Amino acid sequence: MVSLLGKTPDELQEVALEAGLPRFAGKQLAEWIYVRRATSFDEMTNISLRGRETLKARYTIGRHAPVAEAKSTDGTKKYLFKTPPLPPLRGRDRSDSGDENQSEGQYIEAVYIPEDDRATLCVSTQAGCKMGCKFCMTGTLGFHGHLPASEILNQIFSIPESATLSNIVYMGEGEPMDNIDEVLRSLSAMTAAWGCAWSPHRITVSSVGYPKGLKRFLDESECHLAISLHNPFAAERQQIMPIEKNHPIKDVLELIRGYDWTRQRRLSFEYICFGGENDTPRHAKELLRLMRGLNCRVNLIRFHAGVDQGFPASDEQQMVWLRDYLTMHGLTTTIRRSRGEDILAACGMLVNALQKEP
Ligand code: SF4
Repeated sequence: MVSLLGKTPDELQEVALEAGLPRFAGKQLAEWIYVRRATSFDEMTNISLRGRETLKARYTIGRHAPVAEAKSTDGTKKYLFKTPPLPPLRGRDRSDSGDENQSEGQYIEAVYIPEDDRATLCVSTQAGCKMGCKFCMTGTLGFHGHLPASEILNQIFSIPESATLSNIVYMGEGEPMDNIDEVLRSLSAMTAAWGCAWSPHRITVSSVGYPKGLKRFLDESECHLAISLHNPFAAERQQIMPIEKNHPIKDVLELIRGYDWTRQRRLSFEYICFGGENDTPRHAKELLRLMRGLNCRVNLIRFHAGVDQGFPASDEQQMVWLRDYLTMHGLTTTIRRSRGEDILAACGMLVNALQKEP
């Protein structure tokens, strides 16, 4: 059944007309779905009973609760969702996936991260991922499908803490720019006046640097951008991030430099620190060279010891040195606190370990 979550007011107007409802019912539907966050058609009391019955027979709202959750000692929560059957894969996606049968639906994860002054949700944009970054447990899942906007939005709308969220990061399973149509559609529903009317500056979308989708994201959205960098040298980056081969980071940076980063829109670089492999003075100097003239910040991320991918983690002292060296030379750098490591919810650890419903 077709889901209404993620549809624009114009599309909802079509839905209303097809259901024999007046044109203005499209606006009413948008309000029920995005503002009042209705989970069933029965709640839509300003739509005629007959109209609601017709809608119910043809559509779903698209809301469904997580099927399992895990809570970290630091308060982080990981939610497991089971999607309805995902849209069929086409062309290369199909061979990348190896999944002939999408009729079962897929398990995906979202991570809720409460802090003193904010509450962030990290959402997935694909089931698994095809980018194959060597340090990332999610990459080992392989690719199992693109999430429609309804399934991206459902993660935001259907966790129990939804109303408390202050920020959203698109940093869960998948490469957002590889599913750009649905990612933009979800961002639009979150930020448009007809939708949730969030400021785009409360949302950050990450990317390994997939230029085609990235350009559309930069042109069609105002949300913040985080680039997964992890090594400033092309040859070394390629060893851990296959994307570097076809889409070198230098080209991605050239694209990024064509946009205005002096306004409120923020550009950051994610940098997981691997002991001796990307945290040395040689790397620090190259990072400074690569970022010269860019108004951005670097987030250093501790590599998680629980991830057995054969990479050494930097020690704390070296990360502090790298942060201070870059900052001293004019590149704002922070060390990001790790959250949810004990429940495999930290960066790069989403592996659907909870794939069975309780
Ligand atoms: Fe995919 Fe991101 Fe993991 Fe790379 S780091 S494999 S892009 S989920």
